[in-house]
Amino acid sequence: MKCKVSGKKITPFMSFGKMPMANGFLDKEEFKDEFFYELEVGFSEDNFLFQVNDHPKSNKIFNDKYPFYTHKSTYMTNHFRDYFNWIKKNFITNKSKVIEIGSNDGTFLKNFKNNNIEHIGFEPSKNVASLSKQSGINVLNEFFNYKNASNLKNFKKKTDIICAANVICHVPDLVDLIKGIDVLLSRDGIFVFEEPYLGSMLKKISYDQIYDAHVFMFSILSVRKVFQKFDFELIDAHPQITHGGSMRYVVGRKNTKRISPKIESLLREEVNMNMDSLDAYIKFKKKCELSRENFKKKILAYKDQKKRICGYAASAKSSTVLNYSKIGSETIDFIADSTEEKIGKFSPGMHIPIVSIDEFRKQKPDVAILFAWNHKNEILEKEKKFSKEGGIWTSHVSEL
Ligand code: SAH
Repeated sequence: MKCKVSGKKITPFMSFGKMPMANGFLDKEEFKDEFFYELEVGFSEDNFLFQVNDHPKSNKIFNDKYPFYTHKSTYMTNHFRDYFNWIKKNFITNKSKVIEIGSNDGTFLKNFKNNNIEHIGFEPSKNVASLSKQSGINVLNEFFNYKNASNLKNFKKKTDIICAANVICHVPDLVDLIKGIDVLLSRDGIFVFEEPYLGSMLKKISYDQIYDAHVFMFSILSVRKVFQKFDFELIDAHPQITHGGSMRYVVGRKNTKRISPKIESLLREEVNMNMDSLDAYIKFKKKCELSRENFKKKILAYKDQKKRICGYAASAKSSTVLNYSKIGSETIDFIADSTEEKIGKFSPGMHIPIVSIDEFRKQKPDVAILFAWNHKNEILEKEKKFSKEGGIWTSHVSEL
């Protein structure tokens, strides 16, 4: 295994075993040809970078049927409104040029459009890109990379803000992405992005953050180190509660901005957690194994009590949990989800039937495993009736 930034050899510290495509929902006839790869993870001590080894190619994951729509979560829609207001307050002028990487269905960019700010989104998944086009958002149905960024003549060295959320961790060629940012960003421009935070994953043992699309799990240590190599500087960082714990990073060109003193204290916290050393990750591996055992025991105990068990939200994250724990349709009757593309299909690898949320309400199972534990408040509010009637929520993380 090689570090995706330095190219230096690293030794994977753990394997989650053979994994299917995390969003590879399939029909029965497709079971026999299902694609699997080994999900190994490693830590580059040079760059403090937590990364997966092998992974499917990006165009296998992000194509014309990407089954994730930001707008489905009201909580995230509100979060993006607040994220926009924060950018507006701190960085925007009425002449600003803005680019979003991974603009999905346009939930975030809609705020820029409604404020008449010049913007372009890069979104390779056609289904979600088309949806954003319908609401009048400027979007290129392309991957953000150096080549495609270089084609944007009017934005070259003129872009004031490049923003992103939950996508930089999806881009295996981080060096090429940074070159793309370099070609577009103005001298005083900023690159702001928020991603699931490695520190939160280590604390919560939320190993389900690791799946094919999540090639990296970032930390302040890693973002600072990697961007430094390309004459950028981490100038600020803000912890977020979204997606089970995320971090918003603000990066500028070297020596152009004041560096927030907050960074030092956040770095100290990471060093106190040993996040700069392989030891922390070897410990994490042991905790994952223990978490898997405890989760299996808990679910099998419900099964022994003859309880009807289902999953709630067929998220990409659920794929890691189920395939790593080897829990399938012998234990879980179905997984309920609101995404049209998934309903009627089977979950990747473990082949559990996916049904609608209406079906979940009709079937009234005894136990629901909340795979979207990161949307806990929103879902528990929506499914109050299930809890009221004695339904049990559980999860592999201790959030519930
Ligand atoms: N930013 C949204 C969507 C996150 S999902 C949110 O936080 O809710 C990640 C999105 O990034 C997907 O829509 C995917 O198609 C897109 N994506 C993946 N790789 C990309 C790349 N290299 N450039 C631009 N977008 C990419």
